[in-house]
This record gives sequence, structure tokens and C-alpha cells, in this order.
Amino acid sequence: MVKIDVNRQIDLGLTKAKWRYSGVPCGRNKPGTKRLASSHLNADGKVYDIRKGLKIGTRYVYPGEDEGCMCHSQVIIPGFDD
Ligand SMILES: [Zn+2]
Repeated sequence: MVKIDVNRQIDLGLTKAKWRYSGVPCGRNKPGTKRLASSHLNADGKVYDIRKGLKIGTRYVYPGEDEGCMCHSQVIIPGFDD
């Protein structure tokens, strides 16, 4: 699902998006995911390349990709948002 969205956005000439933390801790009700929530909270507002995702820790991820992640992306419209 994430990949289809990304391809469509790239087709439209959009290459950047902003990570948006939902305000609900990611991965809640799951053990061992405190780190997920805090790293995603820190990612809030960060701009990333939608072809790669945002680097969190050692890997590139998209909002909503991790299990229990409630984050979402806000696509940046060139010349309008940047
Ligand atoms: Zn998240």
C-alpha cells in the first residue's frame, strides 16, 4: 500500500514529505515498543525523501509502516510548502 502511494506521488513530481506524529504513542499496547513511540515523536516535522523514507535508527521507514505506528505523512508541494 505504501509503495503504491509513493509511486503515485513521484509521478506527480512530489519528492518530499513531512513526518507527522499522530499524538497517539506508536505501538501502544505492545510490549517493547516504547522506543518506537519516542523515536517517532522525535521524527515529527522532519522532512524526508518519499523515495527512501525517513532514517530512524539504522533503517529507512515510512510513517505507518511499523506495526502499531499511527504516524502519517504530509506531502510537500514544491513551491508551495517549501
Ligand atoms: Zn509512528
